[in-house]
Amino acid sequence: MKETRNLRQYLNPSVGFFLLIAIAACSGPASEQASAPASTATVYEGARLIVGDGQVIDNAAFAVEDGRIVGVGASGEITGATTVNLSGMTVIPAIIDAHVHLGQTREAVLEDLERRAYHGIGAAMSLGLDAEGAPLDLRADGRYLSAGRGITTPEEGRSEVPHWVTTEEEARQAVRDEAARNVDIIKIWVDDRGGQYERMTPELYGAVIDEAHKNDLRVTAHIFKLEDAKGLIRAGVDVFAHGIRDQDVDDELLALVKESNVVLVPNMPGRGVPTELDWLSGYLSDEELTEMKASATANPEAQERFGIQARNLARLSAEGMTIAFGTDGNNPWAPHVEMEDMVASGMSPGDVLVAATRNAAEVAGFTEMGTIASGNRADFVVLEANPLDDITNTRRIADVYLDGEKIDRAALRAGWAGQSSN
Ligand SMILES: [Zn+2]
Repeated sequence: MKETRNLRQYLNPSVGFFLLIAIAACSGPASEQASAPASTATVYEGARLIVGDGQVIDNAAFAVEDGRIVGVGASGEITGATTVNLSGMTVIPAIIDAHVHLGQTREAVLEDLERRAYHGIGAAMSLGLDAEGAPLDLRADGRYLSAGRGITTPEEGRSEVPHWVTTEEEARQAVRDEAARNVDIIKIWVDDRGGQYERMTPELYGAVIDEAHKNDLRVTAHIFKLEDAKGLIRAGVDVFAHGIRDQDVDDELLALVKESNVVLVPNMPGRGVPTELDWLSGYLSDEELTEMKASATANPEAQERFGIQARNLARLSAEGMTIAFGTDGNNPWAPHVEMEDMVASGMSPGDVLVAATRNAAEVAGFTEMGTIASGNRADFVVLEANPLDDITNTRRIADVYLDGEKIDRAALRAGWAGQSSN
């Protein structure tokens, strides 16, 4: 019956979401687990295993029981009740996207997460546009985290979901309001949007960071300018939700980074070059694909913007800054493009995969995820080719498992057919 189970059952089984959904063909006899032997572990054997922490085990084996990884080693070292042969394949942990903006209703968030699961993304953190009434209780399953409403200065004409603050006391109160919603991180925007607004001053973001830390919350900052990055590090910011975009980083910034534990989620802009899109056929409609291909042309200005951030990412990564992973927006397949962009910036595919798995889990606060290690949730992606050779091989997905259950990707795709697919 496993293959006919709806993904939503294990996205949030504790609150019974599956009851909302018509589940076809799931009323058969008791599952095979009922009569299984004491050890019900399934061993996945023979793949190249990219652990997520930088280690790679060629010809690996790992065991899964009750949705958890219960053993990792070389082929032959791990035993269980059932063996799945993955020779010729590569296994990576499910990708984690630490910067998204998901829907605002339960159904929308669940579909957003399902679409991510389809593409091998096991969890996502929503950064600052979740209004009052957004279904934050969906975080119970641990695949979704949220900053609630972020904090910024008045930005008329943009989203009114964030708190607009102009005084230190308003800034502190906004943090306390979000702490009361039990958010997972505080999001701030420090950006004058090309001179349109007064951006947050050091006094304001200093108050946010101080109040957040008093409430045991970390702060992630949308930034644009090098100057603000420096001020934010001095004020104790925990994460950058974007790279520095106005100029190349300098030695002073590097020194500040090294004295701090600040983590970078690069969130690269488009490279401004035509890219391969055929991997999305079967997911996107022919019309959508044709439209995207038509607009995927060379763009020198975009190339220049990308160049600044690419040089900054390459330098900061080489200097030892912790690099995590996020895509912004609500595009479920964007992580596969982001990984390619990070490699195009000069990071190795191996380092990019660590950023997109272990480091992203840690920076977002997803526990028991991000690496194929005993005790972790059995969230993994089986690839037909090795992404260490070519990072775009993360798109060659054979299967996705979450909590040890294989996602029925074909059924999901069929269910989405005819809808717009972003
Ligand atoms: Zn964002």
